[in-house]
Amino acid sequence: MSNSIHIQNPINNKVLYEIDEITDIQASSIFETAKKTQSVIQNMSVKARIEEVFKIRDYVIQYSDFILDCIIAETGKARTDAFAAEVFEVTDVIDVYTKLAPKQLQDQKMNWPIFLMEKKSRQFREPLGTVLVITPWNFPFYQVIVPSLMSFLAGNATIVKPSEVTPLKPLWEHFFAHSGFMKDAIQVVIGGKETGAKLLAQKPDKVHFTGSVNTGRKLMEACAKQLIPIDLELGGKDPSIVFDDVDVDRTVNGIMWGAFTNAGQNCTGIERLYVQEGIYDQLVPYLVERTKRLRTSNINRDTSSPEDCDVGAITASFQVKVIEDHIEDAIAKGATLLCGGIKEKGSHHIPPTIFENCNHSMKIASEETFGPTLAIMKFKTEEEAIGLANDSVYGLSASVWTKDAARGERVARALKVGNVCINNHMLNEANPYLPFGGVKDSGIGRFKGEDGLLTFCNLKSVLIDKQGKLIEPQWYPYTNSKYKLLHAVMLSWFGKKRNWFKFITNVIPLDGIGNKEKFK
Ligand code: NAD
Repeated sequence: MSNSIHIQNPINNKVLYEIDEITDIQASSIFETAKKTQSVIQNMSVKARIEEVFKIRDYVIQYSDFILDCIIAETGKARTDAFAAEVFEVTDVIDVYTKLAPKQLQDQKMNWPIFLMEKKSRQFREPLGTVLVITPWNFPFYQVIVPSLMSFLAGNATIVKPSEVTPLKPLWEHFFAHSGFMKDAIQVVIGGKETGAKLLAQKPDKVHFTGSVNTGRKLMEACAKQLIPIDLELGGKDPSIVFDDVDVDRTVNGIMWGAFTNAGQNCTGIERLYVQEGIYDQLVPYLVERTKRLRTSNINRDTSSPEDCDVGAITASFQVKVIEDHIEDAIAKGATLLCGGIKEKGSHHIPPTIFENCNHSMKIASEETFGPTLAIMKFKTEEEAIGLANDSVYGLSASVWTKDAARGERVARALKVGNVCINNHMLNEANPYLPFGGVKDSGIGRFKGEDGLLTFCNLKSVLIDKQGKLIEPQWYPYTNSKYKLLHAVMLSWFGKKRNWFKFITNVIPLDGIGNKEKFK
């Protein structure tokens, strides 16, 4: 029996193509190719690497419709979701990092403490070697191309393993045939979990992983055995806190988008909504009324139209089961279904679903649902809202909605998350100048940001001395006089009150000691 993995269109369940796991021999050959190519990339100027990355941008612009068709065929996304979060975002990231790269990657002159004033200190920002990027299915184009191009700009050879749910095989074949991008600098390796494990066993110099908490844990264990550094960008259960001073119209628009864009298949989608009691009866019915008007994906939609639907399909069959399980669990535990719910068991077209009267014993309010669901809970005080929002194993992102700027900032500081929006949601991710990442079970490490390319660099520290003194004060031989002088220098410089006279009278003989003291 073949072990091939079927790639399906979630809108109509048609099988698009099949993929297979790679062999150990293939994995080894992929790494050999990477090693050879890396020595070429390393010797390219940053300017030449930037020129290569512009080929990606030009390809994205020229073939954006084709890219969108490929993404929609495998994910079932609404066309506008795919355009905004994958195609547009990629061009934005390229614009930012091609501007930042020359400054971020150049050698840095570093400061020095007073005792090292005759020496120079520098930092070289060098490539790590071969970077393995492993990606999930919810943003299959963006998640593959963004870390890969950043790793490439930093001078690495990059091997990227897309999710077996949405490998976008036809897209990558077309990309490498038509973009003119440097051969083998980024190798997209199609396959499943086994392929990921085989690539990891080849000992890349770094792993950049985006995916679930469970897989993240496994990969970290595997990396620990080989001492491979790994970034973990994992799941979330985003809370959003709405205070009773908000503009209801704007807030409802923002919450709807934050919860249901990409059909809720976002690590930073709103899944828990805490609404203050003073505005609850006004905001919640309006949110439900507006949500009922959103158009859900269906089998007959015209995917070529930007208005094909508002809430796309659920990409993976296993995710449909998780969402259904959370909906059933919420109903069984007494939550009130306000709209949506399961219309047809097993269907990838799940309408946006809102519950009230939820509590944290329900899966819908505590586990990552990764679907178009929203669990609403009422709160009285700011303190209570912060406590509820922080009552989670996750700590990826959150939002707070209020007209009171001081309260917005206070709550943002109190939330135990890696990213927070005030009066918006999820947009931290859209700003490449902001670092992105989670705390608690949501991950380890930061991605992107002003220094984002350094994630993929060996920050080599370099100290440059001259062929000066015969012996430095801290070198052998260790003598009583040297010890006393060192001690006096420390006290005079770092003591409660700085004593310049003592410092100079001790540091001068200490500095000269190297030329006087000889080995006995
Ligand atoms: P997943 O963990 O199941 O799979 C992710 C990738 O890991 C896939 O490519 C898979 O083939 C690979 N993989 C699985 N087992 C492996 C193994 N043993 N060795 C090597 N590779 C292995 O995650 P998913 O279902 O594809 O993605 C959904 C998850 O991703 C959600 O939890 C979501 O929150 C998270 N996510 C996080 C971010 C973020 O930036 N924090 C962004 C997007 C998605």
